[in-house]
Amino acid sequence: MVKMTCYDLHSHSTASDGALSPEDLIARAIAQGVNVLALTDHDGTEGIAKAQLASQNTDLTLIAGVEISVTWGGGTVHIIGLNVDVDNATLQQGLMEMRTFRIGRAAKMAERLEKAGITGALDGARKYASDVMLGRLHFAQFLVEQGHAKNINDVFKRFLVRNKPGYVVGEWASLTNALTWITAAGGQAVIAHPARYKMTATKLRRLITDFKFAGGVGIEVVSGRQHPEEVKNLARLAEQFELLASCGSDFHTPDNTWVELGHLAALPKSCVPIWSVW
Ligand code: AMP
Ligand code: MN
Ligand code: MN
Ligand code: MN
Repeated sequence: MVKMTCYDLHSHSTASDGALSPEDLIARAIAQGVNVLALTDHDGTEGIAKAQLASQNTDLTLIAGVEISVTWGGGTVHIIGLNVDVDNATLQQGLMEMRTFRIGRAAKMAERLEKAGITGALDGARKYASDVMLGRLHFAQFLVEQGHAKNINDVFKRFLVRNKPGYVVGEWASLTNALTWITAAGGQAVIAHPARYKMTATKLRRLITDFKFAGGVGIEVVSGRQHPEEVKNLARLAEQFELLASCGSDFHTPDNTWVELGHLAALPKSCVPIWSVW
């Protein structure tokens, strides 16, 4: 029997809000039987060089990626760039803006939490983060540590989403800008975990239309923590909109609340895998 190549095209390291260093992520991916892994940290590519080095002389092929936060249709969506040239100036300038926004947002989040009686959140969150990126998951870890919530899921519901004490409204990249950065860096843009936005079918089709117009080529048909029904639905959309299909675990940590690296359903037969054009 021919062994199928195992692709996992969405994962995180300590260069964003993942628990494993790029090196440990590579080791774990290999142990889990992944053959092709994309490291797609939020709004930055600092982990890529380390991951690339760690994957040398192994059977694992590393794909340089990034997951860009985008404000679209009054909410946040995530756009993955695959096979990006991390040395591209346009991409890095864009990502730098995102980082600057994150720093300001983190300070505001801490201020808001302070008003809700929770002190020291900025330093507390920083303890869980590397020096390149501060995100809501780091605040979540601090809030759980301090006993303000029983787990990460709970902390998001009660503190870190719209209309809750630790949430800060703000503008991420526009869809057009994110696509410009990815395309300038020679990458392929992919809509990440479409089912997680809980959009109506009409709104999702509108997103795909705007995304294609801006130069997007792919959609995650298979994603971690996703209902099987969604796979069918997304495969249909990929076919209708002539989008290449991607799959990724969105791995963050070995804790069992997240999907394991490479543990993904197969893409439906109707899909054109994004790697078929590589
Ligand atoms: P940020 O980009 O800093 O706004 O944070 C978004 C990140 O928070 C996501 O990439 C997830 O890693 C994490 N996140 C969001 N919602 C949840 C949730 N309900 N449970 C666990 N992690 C979450
Ligand atoms: Mn994350
Ligand atoms: Mn995401
Ligand atoms: Mn992700």
